[in-house]
Amino acid sequence: MLLTITSTTAPATDLGYLLHKNPARIQSFDLSFGKAHVFYPEAKSEQCTAALLLDIDPVHLVRGQHGLLDQYVNDRPYVASSFMSVALAQVFGSALAGQSKERQALAETALPLTVCLAVVQCRGGESILRRLFEPLGYTVNAKQHLLDEKYPEWGQSDYFTVTLTATIRLSELLAHLYVLIPVLDTEKHYWVGDDEVEKLLRRGEGWLAGHPDREFIARRYLKHRRLFHAALARLTEEDQPDPDLTDELHAQEEAQIEQDLSLHEQRLGAVLAVLKNSGAHRVLDLGCGEGRLLELLLAEKSFTQITGMDVSYRALEIAGERLYLERMPPKQRERIQLIHGALTYRDTRLSGYDAAAVVEVIEHLDPSRLSVFERVLFEFAKPGLVVITTPNVEYNVKFETLPAGKFRHKDHRFEWSRGEFQMWANQITDRFGYTVRFLSIGQEDPIVGSPTQMGIFTR
Ligand code: SAH
Repeated sequence: MLLTITSTTAPATDLGYLLHKNPARIQSFDLSFGKAHVFYPEAKSEQCTAALLLDIDPVHLVRGQHGLLDQYVNDRPYVASSFMSVALAQVFGSALAGQSKERQALAETALPLTVCLAVVQCRGGESILRRLFEPLGYTVNAKQHLLDEKYPEWGQSDYFTVTLTATIRLSELLAHLYVLIPVLDTEKHYWVGDDEVEKLLRRGEGWLAGHPDREFIARRYLKHRRLFHAALARLTEEDQPDPDLTDELHAQEEAQIEQDLSLHEQRLGAVLAVLKNSGAHRVLDLGCGEGRLLELLLAEKSFTQITGMDVSYRALEIAGERLYLERMPPKQRERIQLIHGALTYRDTRLSGYDAAAVVEVIEHLDPSRLSVFERVLFEFAKPGLVVITTPNVEYNVKFETLPAGKFRHKDHRFEWSRGEFQMWANQITDRFGYTVRFLSIGQEDPIVGSPTQMGIFTR
């Protein structure tokens, strides 16, 4: 577990004074769960980097005190997590408090700083990273790692190497890391006690209450409903849940249920592959949500006109932000548009496309509106290719955290078995002159099939 902080403000070696750690020496500290080492891979006047390396003792972890008995082999030693926060507070305590004996004025000055987290697990992917750090003024650069380099077809893991850049006071930067690193993953942590609320509020002072995702941060940081509500009551005056937020929480829960499979990435990868292989140039993403597929489509030059549509204005705003629409060079900007609209109304803006993706959307439509949706898409918009994905309800028994009979998302109006989806798809082909074939997405079980089903309709 490695974190580096780089300063480029000459003399950059003053970073040593700010962190109270001499750049010329390697220093080691004993922590309750292992050791922390501080060293400087580079210490020049123009650029200086301090590294904090955690050496976590996995045997110590499983011996009991920390409640990780269930996982002798776990990823804790390698990924940044709550241990990193504990280490930051213990090793860089004065810097976190904004104190520097020798360079107090510098400690109070915003400096261009870059942080690199060698490996973090980020449940919910890059969009969560951006949502956490960008509102605080960071430029986020994230490199996602494959599940297994040898088997790229297994898809992406939820491990990232993350670089954060901002002009910021060192104490603020450390406080952000202290709170947000444990928010990135949703593993159990041994440290959730009542005083965590105090720690969260203290480290969050001056920024957390104003963060657009403060509830999400508090919830994940505390990982305990009772504490979460206690913190929330002190962070915000509002007592009405924000409907958009509730929606996001549900989406988080869905992501959580499906997390082990990183199913969403596999789904998007499969849809992208079908679209690319079809030779389509003008493509629709209907019910585009926060724009994860749009991002992949943009990266492919063969798609010359990309349109995302969603009924949720908030989702489109988030999509616009994640795609950096406002900062996009004009040539690139011309390729993409986001439109606000509902799939249950005929819409002339949807005509003239080669292909449409409808990823995890139909199950959000009221069953009584499905026949309208069918006409809107297959009779009026009628792209040459339509790719639809939806959950396979038979697979739900395999999700351990999902109670029997429940859907994966609170807003799902239905979830279909493979038979039901295929019956629905086949009546469409008869009525609108398409043919359809079916593909499974995700790990296939011999009895209940795969978690996601996909229908590929061609005209
Ligand atoms: N396709 C995205 C989002 C799936 S979530 C992805 O795979 O990540 C379902 C999305 O469908 C939500 O963003 C929701 O706002 C949108 N949606 C639900 N009903 C809709 C309708 N009638 N018209 C357009 N979009 C709709």
